[in-house]
Amino acid sequence: MLAELLLNWYDLHQRRFVFRGPKDPYLVWVSEIMLQQTRTETVEDYYIRFTKRFPDIRSLAAADEGDVLKAWEGLGYYSRARNMQKCARVICDKYGGIFPDDYEKVRALPGIGPYTTASVLSIAFDRPYPAMDGNLTRVLSRVYGVRECVDTPAVAEQLRRIGEREMPARRCGDFNQALMDIGATICLPGTPDCEACPLQEICDACKKGDAPALPVKKEAKPPVPVSVSVLIIKQGGRVLMQQREQTLLKGLWTYLLFENKDRDQILSELKRAGIECVFLREMGKAVHVFTHRIWNMTIFECEMRPELNVPAGYLAVTKNEMEKLPMPVAMKAARKLCMDEVFVR
Ligand code: SF4
Repeated sequence: MLAELLLNWYDLHQRRFVFRGPKDPYLVWVSEIMLQQTRTETVEDYYIRFTKRFPDIRSLAAADEGDVLKAWEGLGYYSRARNMQKCARVICDKYGGIFPDDYEKVRALPGIGPYTTASVLSIAFDRPYPAMDGNLTRVLSRVYGVRECVDTPAVAEQLRRIGEREMPARRCGDFNQALMDIGATICLPGTPDCEACPLQEICDACKKGDAPALPVKKEAKPPVPVSVSVLIIKQGGRVLMQQREQTLLKGLWTYLLFENKDRDQILSELKRAGIECVFLREMGKAVHVFTHRIWNMTIFECEMRPELNVPAGYLAVTKNEMEKLPMPVAMKAARKLCMDEVFVR
């Protein structure tokens, strides 16, 4: 019953996106990875650019990591891009560049979790795996009246089994995408529009009137605020950059960043690294919110003496060179100040 209602509705009301047409598993995979933690409307432009630059698994596997990160710049959660490239290389090495169609093989690839495995296999190969994301969890918990906390493995598995049980013999990808679309447009968190919903007649939460309270979830911890000094250190017509090694924003280029440190601590740390510089002025402030932390940034212009060598591990770049480096969105305000006010002096 669920599948029939869903597919009839989907035929008339599905959302149309550029990445919805092709059944090529590589293209489905790229779009599914991009769609994690990113709004669907935002993904379209990135998807077009990325798949033009890397049209197949082999081109992604052969690319320079910096080029992949550059093509991903602005989408955030950069480990997704790095893992995609690792994954493309494994597919080339182990499967001759052909995306596998077996659940265990796909699930074992780097950066591919149960959700991505199920969505790629169902959409590209019509395999009966429910793609359990936030939308499917919300819609299924409401329709089938699951009122226990969905963050526990047992309840998550209960919902996955419901999805599996209700999956039609054909059009498995459409079944998943119909649930995603209803979750994204009608069965919204907090404010479901039951009057407009094709599942109203079979929905337990709608009948009992507690749909806005479902699904039951653990309270999320708020992100931790961190004070970050962003140092734009100039030397002649160049500015010092550093490539991040930390898990957060790994591989991307930033100005020199110092968390929760005062000016004296920063200067002595820099001296130890072979960078002697002076603070010239505070240029501005910026805030960037990650999932688990908030960077409260103060941006400084600094100067390093021209006769000093740039130590290993840092790059001194011109304006043009900076434009080509993959930089995170968290650096957007600092980068603008650098471009507008530092490079012109
Ligand atoms: S009837 Fe209401 S609660 Fe049930 S699936 Fe539809 S929108 Fe969600």
